[in-house]
Amino acid sequence: MKLISSLLLTIVLLFSSTSWANKAPIALAIHGGAGTITPEKMTPEKEQAIRAKLKESLEAGYAVLQNNGSSLDAVITAIEILEDSPLFNAGIGSVYTHDGTHELDASIMRGDTLDAGAIAGVKRIKNPISLARMVMEDSPHVMLSGEGAEVFAESKGVEMVDNSLFNTEFRLNALKKAQKKTAALTQPNDLSELETNYKVGTVGAVALDKSGLISAGTSTGGMTNKRYGRIGDAPIIGAGTYADNASCAVSATGHGEFFIRYNVAADICARVKYQNKTISEAGSDVINTVLKNAGGDGGVIILNQAGDISFQFNTTGMYRGSIDADGKVTVAIYKDK
Ligand code: ASP
Repeated sequence: MKLISSLLLTIVLLFSSTSWANKAPIALAIHGGAGTITPEKMTPEKEQAIRAKLKESLEAGYAVLQNNGSSLDAVITAIEILEDSPLFNAGIGSVYTHDGTHELDASIMRGDTLDAGAIAGVKRIKNPISLARMVMEDSPHVMLSGEGAEVFAESKGVEMVDNSLFNTEFRLNALKKAQKKTAALTQPNDLSELETNYKVGTVGAVALDKSGLISAGTSTGGMTNKRYGRIGDAPIIGAGTYADNASCAVSATGHGEFFIRYNVAADICARVKYQNKTISEAGSDVINTVLKNAGGDGGVIILNQAGDISFQFNTTGMYRGSIDADGKVTVAIYKDK
């Protein structure tokens, strides 16, 4: 009798722990930039390479979540793979500044404590997203910039690389094209000075882990031909990155000046929190109405604690992918494929 009841108890315990584990959803979404991305502008080889890299990043990040890793670790893992690929405007493959160098921006945020870390305008950091995490976890600050950020990195034993590591011919040609165009501009505040079509490829990730923590991260080389130490939205908490367990996690890509002024990532989360909108409704309101009406182009990836995922963009395309709470893998580039 005793044996039977303890056997029963074990079965009940086993059953409830597995169903609990099954109920704790994990999910991951990534982007690799938004812009004028059309099949006509793409070669089959490039498209295949981009899709394969997005898939690799997704699978690596998802494996972290499956192995009980935190959503912060998943975000870092997914983003580092994209930073290390010349296909994207982050890390290797970053766009060029007006002076022919690279200045990288990145940020990360966790949705339980609202802790965040960011770096801006760094030139010698191979993986800016991990330095952003160090700022969050190993410094009393939220954002470090330029040389100071690099001194901090050195003090933490981060390997320093030469700025030329980020060089690619493709981005150099984009700089030359942009400079040819801007040479003809007469207005110093002409928005086309930052030629928006030459910068596609910022990367970002949002993730939910088994403990219920949601996190967001974004990394970029910014915009081609930028100057005077220009900093975009990617390292600005609330603009390019935001995560709050009570609403959602967002990573953005697009014309940073607009994303900063419209506080895009935080505005989406606020609409979810205070207007009870779904993440898709809130994301679409901000990207397809507010931002579009203002003339800002770009997109976002959004995820919440239930594991819901939403992609919103007002451009012709956005490199993107996700593995949802059911384990379904999606990779897409254009409006609907
Ligand atoms: N948002 C980035 C910036 O303005 C660029 C991009 O996402 O394409 O620096």
